[in-house]
Amino acid sequence: MDTSAQSGAGSAPAAVPATSTTDGRPGISGLTPEKLEEWVVAAGQPAYRARQIESWVWAKGATGFEQLLNVPATLRQSLHETFVATTLANTEVRPADRGLTEKALHLLGDGQAIESVLMRYPAAGGRRARATVCVSSQVGCAVGCPFCATGELGFGRDLDAAEIVDQVRFWGRRLAEDGAHVTNVVFMGMGEPLLNLECVIAAAGALTDPRRFGLGARHITVSTSGVLPGIERLVELRPPWTLAVSLHAARPALRDVLVPLNRRYPIAAVVAAASAYARATGRRVSYEYVLIDGTNDTLADADAVVELLAGRGLLHVNLIPMNPVAHTPWQPSPPERVAAFSARLEGAGVPTTVRRNRGDEIGAACGQLAAERAGEPAPEAVQRRRDRLTRQRAAALTGST
Ligand code: SAH
Ligand code: SF4
Repeated sequence: MDTSAQSGAGSAPAAVPATSTTDGRPGISGLTPEKLEEWVVAAGQPAYRARQIESWVWAKGATGFEQLLNVPATLRQSLHETFVATTLANTEVRPADRGLTEKALHLLGDGQAIESVLMRYPAAGGRRARATVCVSSQVGCAVGCPFCATGELGFGRDLDAAEIVDQVRFWGRRLAEDGAHVTNVVFMGMGEPLLNLECVIAAAGALTDPRRFGLGARHITVSTSGVLPGIERLVELRPPWTLAVSLHAARPALRDVLVPLNRRYPIAAVVAAASAYARATGRRVSYEYVLIDGTNDTLADADAVVELLAGRGLLHVNLIPMNPVAHTPWQPSPPERVAAFSARLEGAGVPTTVRRNRGDEIGAACGQLAAERAGEPAPEAVQRRRDRLTRQRAAALTGST
């Protein structure tokens, strides 16, 4: 029995930390305009000072309260004693894709590491240039998908709203140097966003508030491995986001191995909830399918996807050859099998796109930089992991055919 994956299958996340830093100061970007104004007034200052602070934090990209030049020194001091101007204590950036993709390893106030990625898409074919930021929502992840570097790290803690937003502010400042700005935010970095939903909702609220980051609400994508109660909550709230569901296998026995949360929330129920979200919002659901050589990439697998998704409303399938990380015994599917899989779905009327994993050379599948920083596990542990995954895969394939 695979105890490590079992414990990861939907285990409850630890409590959300009250603050972002070890010294107890939360990030200023986690405050709503109302809360900031309350704090300013309680500090004995006129309410309009809140607008000034806001403009520094959001429009001018301040990273230290000493930069708030038109704010009185006493207020700057109180701000410094109460908040941090950014929750990212240190950031290391690595470029890839001739600079079109950049990946950041951020250190948080408590020494934990997370990753975010900037992907620039130059203007092409009448489409305006875009800049997409991929953010982390947790340190590590409890779900434990065996092909994922973050899953291999295990769960650390939830990020608070400021820690999520500050990843986007970081790239916003960098883009501003070139006269560009963030156009899209995707929650596809480290962690399972729907297991930290309240903070994700608060962060998305800050990012899409015209008085704060000012991103279009329709330019947010949230990816989930299938946290059913989280999707149901989104059906009620109806934010106009794009919902992405990480499918990876339609056959239950195989999905139990590739996405261990499937044991708790079976994929058929997840697809039904995602279709309800599409109906409630009019937004097309994306299904992500990582193709693993000889594991989930046969035509029978494609037919199972068709059976699961055909007629399920507005949806689209993205096929992504696996990025070989996370000490798996597995490899990406070869191009001809990817093409055949894609053609089978398309032929059955399921809209499908083959995606390239951008920034492979720096490990765009999030978690790899943090995993490198955590250090290489012992060779025996890696071998045990590979053996266990080989056994589980074999059992799933024989059991389900
Ligand atoms: N936890 C959420 C969001 C973060 S993972 C989720 O699973 O949806 C974002 C996407 O990266 C997911 O679709 C995930 O399956 C994919 N991913 C993880 N490891 C990968 C790898 N080695 N190769 C390709 N994609 C990977
Ligand atoms: Fe977690 Fe997503 Fe990685 Fe699975 S793919 S372990 S849900 S981050």
